[in-house]
Amino acid sequence: MAAIGDTFYAWAADADVLKKGECGGAITALQQYALKSGMVDAVLAIRKGADLYDAVPTLITDPAEIAQTAGSLHCGTLLLSKVVKDYLDANKTARLGVTVKGCDTMGLIELARRDAVDMDRLLLLGVNCGGSVSPILARKMIREKFEVDPDQVHKEEIDKGQFIIEYEGGHKGIKIDDLEDEGYGRRSNCRRCLYKVPRQADLACGNWGVIGEKAGNATFVEVCSEKGANLLDAAVAAGAVKTGAVPAKALEIRGKVEGAMLGLGNKWRKKNFEALASDLWGTIARETGRCIKCYSCIENCPVCFPVAEELKGNSRMITSGEVPPNPMFHLRRFAHISDSCINCGQCEELCPMDIPLALFSHAIRTEGDSAFESKLGKAPYTN
Ligand SMILES: Cc1cc2nc3c(=O)[nH]c(=O)nc-3n(C[C@H](O)[C@H](O)[C@H](O)COP(=O)(O)OP(=O)(O)OC[C@H]3O[C@@H](n4cnc5c(N)ncnc54)[C@H](O)[C@@H]3O)c2cc1C
Repeated sequence: MAAIGDTFYAWAADADVLKKGECGGAITALQQYALKSGMVDAVLAIRKGADLYDAVPTLITDPAEIAQTAGSLHCGTLLLSKVVKDYLDANKTARLGVTVKGCDTMGLIELARRDAVDMDRLLLLGVNCGGSVSPILARKMIREKFEVDPDQVHKEEIDKGQFIIEYEGGHKGIKIDDLEDEGYGRRSNCRRCLYKVPRQADLACGNWGVIGEKAGNATFVEVCSEKGANLLDAAVAAGAVKTGAVPAKALEIRGKVEGAMLGLGNKWRKKNFEALASDLWGTIARETGRCIKCYSCIENCPVCFPVAEELKGNSRMITSGEVPPNPMFHLRRFAHISDSCINCGQCEELCPMDIPLALFSHAIRTEGDSAFESKLGKAPYTN
């Protein structure tokens, strides 16, 4: 019987799912089992769209279709928390299985804190996440740094500190550190992220710590809730998933890699925040001067809810027909989210004017946390 805190190697019993899965196909097999057994009414996962830079959220109700969502898309920068909210709102009693990165998990927790989603109706299969790469920058990076046509690439992965591509006629890997020093690599919010293993999901699954003969064909699963333990036990009993013991050495390696990633996250925070510190408000005023008032930063923010309407339209912050908006619009938005920005990066990623909004709100949140944490207590995650 699995219990909270237990760790396993897990892999799909079905040979096709095992082959299609990123590591052991455990997530795909667990989602398939959850749907087949009626634990959930639908599954929300990601599948490859036009190419591997195109990650498409997909709602599935037929277990036979789940295998098409197997595999990791590292250029999948999307956030699922509002998609989940929309599904739960429209399907009042339905239960949903979702594959979540750390940022999806944090977004859902923040929505639950605002009574906007019911976590009891969700089964969260978490993926460890070292970070994702903007699809636009990934294409540029592959063309300029790897000197490969991005349309010839049929697989990308991040392994042992390298961004690796496989393409017609070969494969190449370049150290992420070197790419990031030159402005490529992971999104800047992902570099600063300290939530690499989503332990607030029901299960946290990844490849760190999978060693020996299991490397590449098993998923490292950490049980994070009773719901997660029940799913794993039931899927194993039904023969959908196989599990094996995690060697002590593997546990140690996983801990070290996670520690190293957190160290790297702190390094990027220091670098980014220190560069801002001398003129935070001046920089914000200058950069937001490009704002065209498209409101994408509001629409895509999981925590700018339910205040969005107050900031838009003909409010005191905004005058119709005037761009850029009064700088108070941005300051008001930062104030609204400053206690709960999860650093998901959506505001920045989707800003058509490339304003580094996530950097600003993350810097404000982090400073607020360090000032008030002793009084307010910690968030359930470290973002
Ligand atoms: C962006 C990203 C970064 C990752 N970084 C690490 C890491 O640094 N260390 C580590 O140990 N593991 C990392 N993982 C997790 C790892 O790649 C595997 O997803 C995990 O080990 C599960 O393997 P599996 O074979 O069981 O998954 P599969 O059975 O192949 O299932 C994968 C699931 O992930 C979903 N998915 C694919 N892309 C995304 C996306 N962009 N966002 C949300 N869901 C997605 C799929 O729809 C599917 O449900 C990362 C995953 C992603 C998506």
